[in-house]
Amino acid sequence: MSKNRFPSARRKFIKKLAGAGAALALLGGSRPLLAARKKALTGVRVAQAADDHTRVVFDLSGPLEHKLFTLENPPRVVVDLLGARKSTALSTDSNRTSLLKGIRSAVRNSRDLRIVLDLDTRVRPRSFLLQPDSKSGYRLVVDMYQTRLSPTPIKTRREQMRKKLEQVVIAIDPGHGGKDPGALGHKGTREKDVVLALGKKLKAQINATPGYRAVLTREGDRFIPLRKRVAVARAARADLFVSLHADSYKSPRVEGASVYALSLNGASSEAARLIAHKENASDLIGGISLDDKDDLIASVLLDLSQTATIQDSLELGNKVLGKLGKVCKLNKKSVQQAGFAVLKAPDMPSILIETAFISNPKEERRLKSSKYQHKMARAIFSGIREHVRKQRLV
Ligand SMILES: [Zn+2]
Repeated sequence: MSKNRFPSARRKFIKKLAGAGAALALLGGSRPLLAARKKALTGVRVAQAADDHTRVVFDLSGPLEHKLFTLENPPRVVVDLLGARKSTALSTDSNRTSLLKGIRSAVRNSRDLRIVLDLDTRVRPRSFLLQPDSKSGYRLVVDMYQTRLSPTPIKTRREQMRKKLEQVVIAIDPGHGGKDPGALGHKGTREKDVVLALGKKLKAQINATPGYRAVLTREGDRFIPLRKRVAVARAARADLFVSLHADSYKSPRVEGASVYALSLNGASSEAARLIAHKENASDLIGGISLDDKDDLIASVLLDLSQTATIQDSLELGNKVLGKLGKVCKLNKKSVQQAGFAVLKAPDMPSILIETAFISNPKEERRLKSSKYQHKMARAIFSGIREHVRKQRLV
């Protein structure tokens, strides 16, 4: 794959954020927005609506990014407030409705506030950030709707559903395919074939592990456009996205694996594209709706979401790189960043692995070896698992 590197991306992005923050501060009165200091949770209100729907409103001292997900056994909704400090607003015990049993919180990664809503039943949550108005400041609203199962569900199917919900889903994306062979080795080895073979082995290893499920973006020698690959992963509700490639260079001596995450430049151009199609982007950032926001707020929220996703991608990439370093040479010792289109999902941590140089005769031989593919798949999966274990703190 061709790469564009943006060494000054971080600096540019910070400049851009500062600019957006200043513009937002104008919109929101005198509140200093997006400042480096921690935001506070100043209050929590819980209300039950007539239709079995519970609304939790978190009052915030400023806008902040959040992540929301559900967990089972027992059912709970987890809200991560990124860059928020611990709050006494959560120490009340009166937060109960027919759905909500209680609220807990803990500081996570020494920088974020994790709030756990303990529930009596499974819910479908929706969250959005409200801008300040004449009465209130920034508010994060979490609406929870009871999930209605069919009245007489077949038990096994129900259990299967539950099981499915607990699984970590990994999308494996073997690069190229069909009319696009990818890079070629001196002996004629095609990138599209070796990465598919590797992807299938990785899928088998993942599926043989309880709690994990893998989905391939292509099962055979098919050409699939880059955005379609992300769409396949999204349709499978993938938690992580791993694209597999083999590198090539004019010198046959160059060797080793490298791992890429999305660059900030790549992310911000994608944000611009998503804003242009805002009505389609409403389900794009982990249940955070964009359709009620003006373009500037939406773009800042997307930027923040992508920044967090890139951070997760870098962490995932680091773990995988560490494990790869035990089975092969590394071309780059740290995770690289580039604007690969296939890594641009704003809410799904995504990495691209250049497994080796197919242009290096020794590595070309290894890439074709089934034994080596197994070894490399094991290394990649063990990096993924380490990342997932670190992320699962609840
Ligand atoms: Zn490639």
